[in-house]
Amino acid sequence: DLLNSIQVFDKPCKYIISKKKLGDGTFSTVHECKDKITGQHYAAKMYSKKLVYGLESMLQNEFSVLKRISKGHHNILSLVDYFETEDSLFLITDLAVGGELYDRIVNKTHLDDSEVRELTKTLVTAIDYLHTNNIVHRDIKAENILIQGNNSKNFAKSLLLVDFGFARKLDNNRIHELAGTLSYMAPEYFNKVKGHGKEVDVWAIGVLVYFMLCGYMPFDCETDDQTKHAIQKADYSYSPPSYWSHVSDEAKDFIDACFVVDPNERPSPKELLKLPFLDYKSKASLSRN
Ligand code: ADP
Ligand code: MG
Repeated sequence: DLLNSIQVFDKPCKYIISKKKLGDGTFSTVHECKDKITGQHYAAKMYSKKLVYGLESMLQNEFSVLKRISKGHHNILSLVDYFETEDSLFLITDLAVGGELYDRIVNKTHLDDSEVRELTKTLVTAIDYLHTNNIVHRDIKAENILIQGNNSKNFAKSLLLVDFGFARKLDNNRIHELAGTLSYMAPEYFNKVKGHGKEVDVWAIGVLVYFMLCGYMPFDCETDDQTKHAIQKADYSYSPPSYWSHVSDEAKDFIDACFVVDPNERPSPKELLKLPFLDYKSKASLSRN
């Protein structure tokens, strides 16, 4: 129980921060916390000031993006509060109690076609909301997608997209600095001259959908250089066949659409929603099986 593992911080604070960790990040740890007055539970992302020394602009980004999108979409993390102590910075946000999508995939080796379809539809709708608000997330991956509730039956609708540490606001500009997770990176990441934009999120959706369906990554070579090379040529396959025999053609077509190398030719989230894999009313979905 939360209350058994509670530590009250020495500074006067509106929240009781549990010692129990919800997760570990690169520069942060995430703890469960509780509003002392309302009793409401939240997540507290805690940055050690020592660790983030020199990375203030990264934090500033995360903070301002979260502020901009908070309370805007049911499947996107909302910032509730913000404060600092002598040693740490705290972002108080919505709490997801159902764990990471990553663990759901790995524990089951893969997810069913229909499950993946529901999850993807929720995720693409959330990313469409971000892009409509000129935000690119840049770190879409199974570790950054959480399940809000404990009701595991229909968890597709309760996804929560978190971790806006690499997110950026875009105003027709391109981004030139590398960030994110190599195996989810789009080819244009490596073109430092032209830079990249929102389209990188769509590529990452493709990687995630592939991973959900088979339990391993589409671009994952022995060395980082080889992985980079495979990404730039969109060199992936639906093999070994035994892992893909249960997967519909619509799902594969969806992944192929995300893995278009030229970002200008890659579909937007709105266009993804119209593909047969996600558009339930399409003939293809009705005639399946
Ligand atoms: P980082 O930027 O360092 O990757 P994240 O924001 O991704 O940090 O948080 C790290 C981990 O903490 C996540 O992968 C997740 O397991 C957990 N976590 C983050 N936010 C929440 C939340 N709102 N509710 C529950 N767990 C969370
Ligand atoms: Mg993360």
